[in-house]
Amino acid sequence: MRRMSSLPTLENCGMSDQLGVGIETSNSFRSTCFHSYCENGEWPKEVKRLSEQDFSEIRRWKKPTDFVYKNPALRLKYSEADKERILALDNDFAFLDLDSKLTQEELQKIPNLMTAGHLDMAWDVPEHDLIVISDIKSSVFAVKDRCESLQLHAYGLAYSLLKGRSKYITGIWDASDGKHYYGNITETNTFDFEAIKERIRNACNNNSDKYTKGTHCGGCWKRDSCPAHLVDMGDENRFSKLFNGTATEADIREALVAAKGLGELANKVSEHCKDWVKRHGPVRSEDGCKSWQARLRSGRKSLNQEQVMADLGVDSLEKYMKQGEEYLVYDWLLVK
Ligand code: SF4
Repeated sequence: MRRMSSLPTLENCGMSDQLGVGIETSNSFRSTCFHSYCENGEWPKEVKRLSEQDFSEIRRWKKPTDFVYKNPALRLKYSEADKERILALDNDFAFLDLDSKLTQEELQKIPNLMTAGHLDMAWDVPEHDLIVISDIKSSVFAVKDRCESLQLHAYGLAYSLLKGRSKYITGIWDASDGKHYYGNITETNTFDFEAIKERIRNACNNNSDKYTKGTHCGGCWKRDSCPAHLVDMGDENRFSKLFNGTATEADIREALVAAKGLGELANKVSEHCKDWVKRHGPVRSEDGCKSWQARLRSGRKSLNQEQVMADLGVDSLEKYMKQGEEYLVYDWLLVK
């Protein structure tokens, strides 16, 4: 059994699913606490089991607003969403009705189970023969393929089968920005859809026991604990104590100094890469589907304060200014 959340990286790296077992459990527990808070306005008692870092992150998340879509016109309420349901597909792409409370170990023992995962939110829209699924992410930019992620397609297919619908919309709720993102309507009874099923099957059958590093690693949220990447961090693996939870204050002090050097090194490497692209052209991904290249972005618009003051006939715009929320900045401060 492969987890649906791992499908995007499993297409390229067979080890990504094994590495993420603990991380997945903690991610789904974060979602459970967050949904409970959104529904009751209070954090559940179990929130104490989250790490300080996880709790401080989900405390900043924004409650999902209505999912609004233009064609067909939809306004779907968070309170009416089907939440945290387990979705499972067998080896023949048939839907398996499982208990949402089954553990990973119990799921692994179910014969014929190809892939399973817990969706965050979904709505059934029978009048349009359509379902909508939406996954909560701390940032939409954390997902390499955005709403076209293979994880979301697997949810879409499984939930469509459960509800007997032939179309689905994949979506992401960016919990930090408080914004819905959505993809196109996908039809499941088409020839084109076979390609998506083929990708799901290939990902589930990727049994390689090697870490395969590549451009796909940028979208792998197990990267922080991936041994293939930790070896990049120095011959003596000087940061191992940070990642195995045994670091002392002295280790952290040393790590902060090293991190500054690594940041400078990363900037230099990045500048050399940009120079190379300027001279030789884009760098293609291993599968040739993407390329790393420059593109022009329009400059940011800003308010011409002098002009506004002149038009309003005032000396200052202070009373029109809004103060943003406080946020944490880490830096060395003089304390003695
Ligand atoms: S970071 Fe890359 S190599 Fe490591 S598990 Fe993820 S996909 Fe595989």
